[in-house]
Amino acid sequence: MSKNQIACCPNCGGRIPFKKFVQLNNFSATNCGTCNARIEISNRTANAVIAGISGVISAASIVLGAYAGYKNYGSLLGGLLSGTGVAALIIFFICWYAYRHSELNRIYYE
Ligand SMILES: [Zn+2]
Repeated sequence: MSKNQIACCPNCGGRIPFKKFVQLNNFSATNCGTCNARIEISNRTANAVIAGISGVISAASIVLGAYAGYKNYGSLLGGLLSGTGVAALIIFFICWYAYRHSELNRIYYE
């Protein structure tokens, strides 16, 4: 497998859309849109760490944003909103990174 590969279905080789991958990251399993195979992320520990870190970073940027907004502009809501925007951006990039580096496994049922 090449290093810069986008997540692919281990069964049919179909590309897993980014939206589905985010779902996979959060709910740990999803179905391939092409062949309907049940798939999961194989390096789950790494993904749990990534999810934990992104959670902490996004929470911190929301708090910092609210604080900075309140301090600099007297607007808690404005700061909160921009902090949320930054958090969403960070989470998007972290998910994208995981998307480019994850390997997927097919789940077989008995
Ligand atoms: Zn497939």
